[in-house]
Amino acid sequence: MLEIKDLALHFDTFEGTAKVLDGVSLSLTHGDTLGVVGETGCGKSITSKAVLGLLPVPPARIPRGEIFFKGDDLLKKSPKEISKVRGTKIAMIFQDPMTYLNPVFSIEKQMTDVIIRHSRQNGSPLNKKQAIEKAVELLKAVQIPSPDQRIREYPHEFSGGMRQRVLIAMALSGEPELLIADEPTTALDVTIQAQILRLLRDLVNRLNLSILLISHDLGVVAKLCHRVAVMYAGNVVETSTIDRIFTAPLHPYSQGLLRSIPRLKKREDSLEGIAGSIPSFINPPKGCRFAPRCPKVMDICGNVKPILTEVEPGHSLACHLFPACRPADA
Ligand code: SF4
Repeated sequence: MLEIKDLALHFDTFEGTAKVLDGVSLSLTHGDTLGVVGETGCGKSITSKAVLGLLPVPPARIPRGEIFFKGDDLLKKSPKEISKVRGTKIAMIFQDPMTYLNPVFSIEKQMTDVIIRHSRQNGSPLNKKQAIEKAVELLKAVQIPSPDQRIREYPHEFSGGMRQRVLIAMALSGEPELLIADEPTTALDVTIQAQILRLLRDLVNRLNLSILLISHDLGVVAKLCHRVAVMYAGNVVETSTIDRIFTAPLHPYSQGLLRSIPRLKKREDSLEGIAGSIPSFINPPKGCRFAPRCPKVMDICGNVKPILTEVEPGHSLACHLFPACRPADA
């Protein structure tokens, strides 16, 4: 359904060119739930925004790569064509619902505007009354109690979790096939977080949706996704099933991420983090971008970039510890 191939993304800044994505490859099949994890600034949100053409061009530019959605290269579409894909084929929900809901308009006004626009794009335009009925149905689907009354309220009258449900309902209004959820639970407390993840899982099953979940939290990804892609400094470094990554990750960065998750059964004085920080995107390391922080770094790592390679069925990684990941001329 979605295939990102060797995507590079650069930002031209006064200090130089920031090479923010350095050949990202990801794929998602119909009905799949893929989590993308990594530290803040690793390029996961930027990747999802590139899919929907939401990046400012300039300063952003895409020097190479392809993004296929159901066989069409989204990067070859005009702004008008991509705006038709947004919402009706691929929808997105974001971290902070208050930023995306207008405080001066009722939920009814905001939802019906979106529903009417999508219905026109889908070729079966709805009138205002039909749009209100659909909005109430959607609020019911995301488990908002008394939706026919609450629809007349304003965003400030909803709790954080309820606002996120409203945004999910709006995202579903165009009947998309793929939902991109960018840190959808980060701004919520833990119990509400669990409810939203349960709701998303329920929607995936009921509506046969595919989900691309962006999160810095492996635990959140594990609750919703079957597969995970670990990103580091603009590269995908490992992809596999969630079980495999949790039980036996192969990439040193994935291993470090896993060690930094607090566990109830293990009493520790302090958590084990990954020493150092993400490198500069303007002058990134020439070879493996994780080399300055990697406990297993070797001579080859500083000069040669490892290639993301399938090392066992359904499990790919980019690390020179596995000779299959070395380019032929290395
Ligand atoms: S390629 Fe080298 S530096 Fe990079 S993760 Fe593997 S061992 Fe570490």
